[in-house]
Amino acid sequence: MNIQMVDLKTQYSRIQQEVDEAVLEVIRSTAFINGPKVQSFKAAFSAYLDAKHVIPCANGTDALQIALMALDLQPGDEVIVPAFTYVATAEVIALLRLTPVMVDVDPDTFNLTAEIFEAAITPRTKAVVPVHLFGQSCDMEPIMQVANKHGIWVVEDNAQAIGADYTYSDGSTQKTGTLGHIGCTSFYPSKNLGAYGDGGALYSNDDIIGPKCQMVANHGQVKRYYHDAVGVNSRLDAMQAAVLEIKLRHLDNYAAARQQAAAYYDEALGSVSELQVPTRQANSSHEFHQYTLKVKNGRRDELAAFLKEKGIPNMIYYPVPLYKQNAYKSFIPADFVELPVTEDLCESVISLPMHTELDEATLSFITSSVRGFFA
Ligand SMILES: *Cc1c(COP(=O)(O)O)cnc(C)c1O
Repeated sequence: MNIQMVDLKTQYSRIQQEVDEAVLEVIRSTAFINGPKVQSFKAAFSAYLDAKHVIPCANGTDALQIALMALDLQPGDEVIVPAFTYVATAEVIALLRLTPVMVDVDPDTFNLTAEIFEAAITPRTKAVVPVHLFGQSCDMEPIMQVANKHGIWVVEDNAQAIGADYTYSDGSTQKTGTLGHIGCTSFYPSKNLGAYGDGGALYSNDDIIGPKCQMVANHGQVKRYYHDAVGVNSRLDAMQAAVLEIKLRHLDNYAAARQQAAAYYDEALGSVSELQVPTRQANSSHEFHQYTLKVKNGRRDELAAFLKEKGIPNMIYYPVPLYKQNAYKSFIPADFVELPVTEDLCESVISLPMHTELDEATLSFITSSVRGFFA
């Protein structure tokens, strides 16, 4: 059995003809930069998200950087960020000479909460970056209430939760990434909506912030050769846009396949007392970018090695809290206290293979192996 963490080859084989034709069309048209494929993907993505402004860019890290640049933050302004996330979230804050304020997460959802956010606010807090980790939305309604009360910008890191629906207390639903002021996403190949190379996007429903992001992403210009701000050059490649436009049509089916695999894992592993299966929030769908277990008896690393031995790939997202990374130590205040939930998660989480092509035989082998380890 050849098990993969993410199986992009089989997925491609199912849409090969459509994708090949669309990519060839770009090559034959030679409209490589901001051509019709970029424009039509932008329109389709904007309709899918119900977002007024969509700004395609080069990758998810750029999207986060452009978002923070568009908010006119000043050096030393504080940006609250969870310590249990991919480095890109904090990296762009540091790069812009803003101050990352690293906070803990909820032990069950692994996400930032309104309570943790509010407790970290100081007079210098200007923005917060909630990360919808592993595919599930942060509880955004109370987070937005706190943010609005204190006049704080909310930039959602939606790299892992594209397509997730968040349900407000009045019953209405909205896509993650459109709940705060700016949403940022990545089209890295293994992400839920993955390109065949790098890609990213920002989105916003704000008529000032949206165009501002567009301007920053395009050398700070609205009119060609007239520059109103110092910007960056960050574009989505036309061939990637062509691939993404096709894959977007399949995104909801891809999500259903992931959710089905997750349900199989839940069913097979839910009764193993040493494990905690992913908590499902009532007010968010779970897009299962990752299927992440918590190993409660300290044997996580042993389980990882055992599975590897059996040819079952697995990953630790994330092994080190951001505040313990060498690059970020200088950003940590002297009175900083280690964050207990983040510490525990870095020691206890393990992610199993998760993609759109997992069949029952594979899932059965993986889960019986995991159960065998604890038996
Ligand atoms: C993937 C990812 C990013 C960065 O995306 P790139 O396209 O690789 O730059 C940022 N934040 C999170 C949470 C991610 O998972």
